[in-house]
Amino acid sequence: MRATILVHRIPIETPVQTSFGVMGDRPSVVLRIEDEDGAVGFGEVWCNWPSVGAEHRARLLEALILPLAGESRLAREPAALWRWLTARLRVLAIQSGEPGPIAQCLAGLECALQDLMARRAGLPLARFLAPDAAATVAVYASGINPTGAPKTAERAIAAGYRACKVKIGFSPERDRENLLGARALLGSANRLMADANQAWTLEEALRFAPTADEAGLDWLEEPLAHDAPDADWKRLAQAMDTPLAAGENFASDRDFAELPAARGLRVIQPDLGRWGGVGQLARLGAKFREGGLLFCPHWLGGGVGLLTSCHVKAALNDEDGYVEVDFNDNPMRSEIAAEVFASLRDGRVGLADKPGIGIGDEALDAFRAHLEISREVVF
Ligand SMILES: [Mg+2]
Repeated sequence: MRATILVHRIPIETPVQTSFGVMGDRPSVVLRIEDEDGAVGFGEVWCNWPSVGAEHRARLLEALILPLAGESRLAREPAALWRWLTARLRVLAIQSGEPGPIAQCLAGLECALQDLMARRAGLPLARFLAPDAAATVAVYASGINPTGAPKTAERAIAAGYRACKVKIGFSPERDRENLLGARALLGSANRLMADANQAWTLEEALRFAPTADEAGLDWLEEPLAHDAPDADWKRLAQAMDTPLAAGENFASDRDFAELPAARGLRVIQPDLGRWGGVGQLARLGAKFREGGLLFCPHWLGGGVGLLTSCHVKAALNDEDGYVEVDFNDNPMRSEIAAEVFASLRDGRVGLADKPGIGIGDEALDAFRAHLEISREVVF
């Protein structure tokens, strides 16, 4: 197979603000894979942080991961290949101190190969994964910056969303003002969530808990750091009515098996570009539905990963839960996913009835002016 590693950096006017840092541009790592018959697949590797992370992940793919994938002879079994590579790179990931970047590259590779296999079958990815896949998917507007948050949330509702997530963790007064302001503008018919991006100590989170309840949040996301004690998470969960959400920073079978119960989570948010790809997201979705958790795939990147996430969620045919859709400026998301998101009504989008995730080379060619790296690897 022939892989093309594409790194783009798209300039933006309004930086994306989180409680731990600011994004001054929108980076993207996309793998395009073509097999000997000319079938193509696209997968996106999560690369938002640190700010130079995209280039590093591209080098890992080129120098380490794709050559190893060639040795596996498992390229037509993406989930099995992911397992094989994860086992094969386990010790290197520990020793290099880079389990995250390696897992993210493996995840994007798995997604690209799943897309390719769906296209070979002539089916949309969702129906390739499950013949009874839903035709539409519930989505929510995410990543709403603290500056003018209530107005941005109102704009998202006007665009057709029925649920919005505001970034908090900046200061208690500002967070409270933003959440209550957003709630007042959205009314009770629309859903509101908040993401603290691991900003708080347990004491700070406990102080904020009454505001979360007062704002009627559907969930409070990552109030504590991923490495905070399970007991802290559980104590917070018991101190408020608002459900706790996490999962974007989970990166092992053990995390997903143990942490939801140990931390009292009621919403689970795996990211298919950070760990596991399509196969693991689909497996976890089915498992957590059985366990009664709300399954809301995390995504905060470009259109390739967003469309892939939507197809997996559609394959699960869930009654509830939504796919996260970044509401900040990112042409690599809004233009690549334009056709699907043109159908946004009442908080749902309809997936295109096209093979795979439904995009072609022209979707990426449109960003040629912002292409920073293009490397080919035959594997
Ligand atoms: Mg988050």
